[in-house]
Amino acid sequence: MNKGILCIVGRPNVGKSTLFNRIVGKRIAITEDKPGVTRDRIYAEGEWLGNHFTVIDTGGLEPEKEDTIMDNIQRQAQIAIETADVILFVTDGTKGLTSTDREIASILRRSGNEVILTTNKIDNPDKNTDIYDFYELGFGEPMIISSEQGLGIGDLLDEIVKHFPKEKIESDEDDVTKVTLIGKPNVGKSSLINNILGEERVIVTNIPGTTRDAIDSHLEYNDNKYIFIDTAGLRRKRSINENVERYSVIRTLTAVDRSDVCILVIDALEGVTEQDTKIAGYAHDNGKAMIIAINKWDLVDKENTTYREFEKNIRESLGFMIYAPIVFISALTGQRIPKLMDLLNLVNNNYSLRISTGVLNDIINQAVLMKQPPSEKGRKCKVYYGTQVSVRPPTFIIFINDKELMHFSYERYLENQIRTHFGFSGTPIKLEFRQKGK
Ligand code: GDP
Ligand code: GDP
Repeated sequence: MNKGILCIVGRPNVGKSTLFNRIVGKRIAITEDKPGVTRDRIYAEGEWLGNHFTVIDTGGLEPEKEDTIMDNIQRQAQIAIETADVILFVTDGTKGLTSTDREIASILRRSGNEVILTTNKIDNPDKNTDIYDFYELGFGEPMIISSEQGLGIGDLLDEIVKHFPKEKIESDEDDVTKVTLIGKPNVGKSSLINNILGEERVIVTNIPGTTRDAIDSHLEYNDNKYIFIDTAGLRRKRSINENVERYSVIRTLTAVDRSDVCILVIDALEGVTEQDTKIAGYAHDNGKAMIIAINKWDLVDKENTTYREFEKNIRESLGFMIYAPIVFISALTGQRIPKLMDLLNLVNNNYSLRISTGVLNDIINQAVLMKQPPSEKGRKCKVYYGTQVSVRPPTFIIFINDKELMHFSYERYLENQIRTHFGFSGTPIKLEFRQKGK
């Protein structure tokens, strides 16, 4: 499924982040407190009338030190142009049209992107406000809103979702698994893609962030069909000077959204960084399958215990994805790349694995016998039966008498029992509890 991407642009103080918060409500996807992305939220999930989309507040990106306001705005507009399906251009109705608005408009017009113009801070629409100047920007009638009061937001969202690509089930690509290599710049993602694809399709250099010109690449391996997605940050022709770190975060998140399996590439000499943890967490929360590849293993001084130490550290940093297999590779020498590919096949199969209801319930019954479900004030939680409702990731509904009585620890226990019997290496699994009876 391809989710639409909405980017909010506009000069400082017009109300972009207020509007962003309005649109995404409480659903925070990631907070990035590294230098470069200082505001709390720049990237989150939005939903309107069943349409799911990603919202990016480009205004939340920190300017570079020597930046003028105009440089900064240009950079943000550029990111929006390269990333967005729909650009939401915000102006301030209390200030009227400014020359900066005109500049932004001219950049956006040249891009040919879908742009929706909105005039914010119209807290009292009955009062005669002069919005006609804004027609001059060339995007038609501005949509009048007040982000603070929440006025006009519904109409605006109606308009926005009209412009998104249809959430299509890509039927022609149904049997194709989308894979994204994620990881910081310079950990060896492009080298790894090259090694896997066996051709120099991606240009590799050792200056962080200079890999360019990648396209989604198709590959068949042991009857499995894959598309390797052009990862975040691998294509940035127009903004070579872009702050690599912050830019790659946005790119990576959108690539994760599009993919089924993620390969988290970690530099063996560096270990897991905070950014790795955040992006892995995002993939986990969004139900993506995961393999952890420790790259540049050729550079590591090995003693007998090295593997185990590495593994222990990684498991500690990424404790929430205990299911993800770890493989030690070298994109340079090709060491264990075949093993990585075998793992990819395995994980992909697990991601789509279906368990029959009969077998599943044998396991659930057995689990319940071995360990009683929780009870509270004399009331016992009763687990009736379960059924798998979907794959990618495998999702189970388990019917119980009262959801209040279920505990997180018992959910974990059931998940572990299912994993013990069916493996599911590399894939998150979801358990949803439903109340039956009543
Ligand atoms: P940004 O720099 O474009 O992200 O702007 P902010 O969202 O930080 O908002 C700048 C200022 O405008 C803040 O003081 C907001 O409270 C205020 N503001 C935002 N939206 C509205 C609105 O609809 N009406 C009014 N009156 N003020 C608003
Ligand atoms: P990306 O930014 O994650 O795509 O990283 P690149 O693929 O551009 O690699 C960055 C640098 O690390 C390049 O100089 C590569 O030659 C080097 N590199 C990548 N993989 C390995 C590896 O397995 N071993 C060694 N020694 N160097 C590697």
